[in-house]
Amino acid sequence: MSITSRARRIPDGGTVVTGWLLDAEAVADDLSAGAARRLSDVAVYRQAVADVVAELTGRGRVPSVAMAERVLDRRLREADFTVVLSATPSGPDAAIQRILRDVRSYRRRSQNSANDLAAMIRITLLTQIDVLWWGHVPPYKTDADVFATPNLLDLDALRRDGKVAFNYRRQATSLLGRAVRTAERAAAPGHAPATVGLRFACARAELIVLLNQIAADFARLAPPGTPRLWVTSVARSVAYQRQLRSLGYAALLPSAHCVGYAADVEMTWFRQFEADHALRAVLIAHQRDGDVNVIDEGQAWHVCVRPGAGRALRLIPRQR
Ligand SMILES: [Zn+2]
Repeated sequence: MSITSRARRIPDGGTVVTGWLLDAEAVADDLSAGAARRLSDVAVYRQAVADVVAELTGRGRVPSVAMAERVLDRRLREADFTVVLSATPSGPDAAIQRILRDVRSYRRRSQNSANDLAAMIRITLLTQIDVLWWGHVPPYKTDADVFATPNLLDLDALRRDGKVAFNYRRQATSLLGRAVRTAERAAAPGHAPATVGLRFACARAELIVLLNQIAADFARLAPPGTPRLWVTSVARSVAYQRQLRSLGYAALLPSAHCVGYAADVEMTWFRQFEADHALRAVLIAHQRDGDVNVIDEGQAWHVCVRPGAGRALRLIPRQR
């Protein structure tokens, strides 16, 4: 294995990225309670989430917050849920309180990714799988913490070296930059997804590996001429997450975005290329393989990498 000047040590996970290889031998397995939960338990939990959402929306019902609280208060204490919630870092009671708080604070807003209460419930329940896996890792509290952490790799540097197989763009921060984006959208609507772009263009190595794999699978399965996978969000600070939440987005806390292990990928924009079905299939296949937790959030799908996934893999997948 070659060692290059770009080798980076990732202290808390113990992963070493050397010459763009993740060295599996150098990594002790993450023995947190959450990481030790079997994938079959997570699959059972996911099915229980689908069941409870079906119960809430059965026969065309539109659940009220009060009804949802009642149903969740009963169902979340059942074994299919507690198998996951009991292994989250602050325990099952705190997890249930967190879920009920998300449900109570639900507000219908146009920019809210959870466009109805049932979707919001599904998202907060599935987010607990991220918490199971990464809830023990201290989050980046402020934007300065994101910039200062040695745990995240700079996507711009990797892209310059041809090591990023997906599209993204950064937030336009200046007035001029925003004006250019607006003009671009008017001149060529559909040229790029309607998102603000990345506030921080950085992510954990394992996540970049997985996103590159997903991008390669998508490129193989999507109709010819489809643009590359488009990543709309990666790392966030807790402060930024709170800001998104105050704007009405379903930006939950704790969040795997705030520890660098989650990304959002554009879905709706790929409909014009008739490629959204292929992207869904690729994401679900990676979830079935146990690499990721995937949450349908409407326009974007959320992808969180599982502890231990993505190791010993090249940042750029081999050509098949
Ligand atoms: Zn997300």
